[in-house]
Amino acid sequence: MTRAEFDTLKNPGVFTKDYRGQVLMTPQVMASTKVSIARLIDGLQEFLKHHGELKVVIHCLWEKSGHTANSKHYTGIACDFHLTGCGFLSAYELVRQFLEEVNLADSTGWGLYPDWNYPGFHLDLRGKKGRWGYYGGEMRGFDETLKYARDKFGKVS
Ligand SMILES: [Zn+2]
Repeated sequence: MTRAEFDTLKNPGVFTKDYRGQVLMTPQVMASTKVSIARLIDGLQEFLKHHGELKVVIHCLWEKSGHTANSKHYTGIACDFHLTGCGFLSAYELVRQFLEEVNLADSTGWGLYPDWNYPGFHLDLRGKKGRWGYYGGEMRGFDETLKYARDKFGKVS
C-alpha cells in the first residue's frame, strides 16, 4: 500500500498504533500490507459506527514471521485485531454481520482467538472461505471454538 492509498482510508487512526501502543504503520508494514485488507478493516470500523462506541484495535497486519506456515500475514492480506467497547461474543456477532453485509463471508479467512490476552480475531482476504479457531494451545474448529467462547465469556460478554 502506498501512502496515497493509505490517505484514502476513512479511519486512519485505527492504523496508527497497535494494541500495545507501538507504531503500527512503519514504512515496511505500509509497503508490505495490501490496501485491500486495510480497506476491509477501515470498512469494519465504518460499520461499527452504527453500533455504538466501538473501535478496532489492530494487533498486526503484514509481518515477516511469527505466524503459521503460509500465513496470509506474510503476503500482507491479513489482520489480527480485537474490538474495544464490547465483549468477544458481541464482537464476533458484529464481524459476522459485517462480512455478510459486504458480501465477503465466502471469500475470507476468519479465525477466532478467545484465549488471547485481548480476545479477538484474524481476518484475511484469501479469496475463499476459511474458518477456524484456536484455544487451549491448539487449532480447533470454528464452531467448537465459538462454543468454548460462549462457555468462557457467557452473558457478560
Ligand atoms: Zn492472524
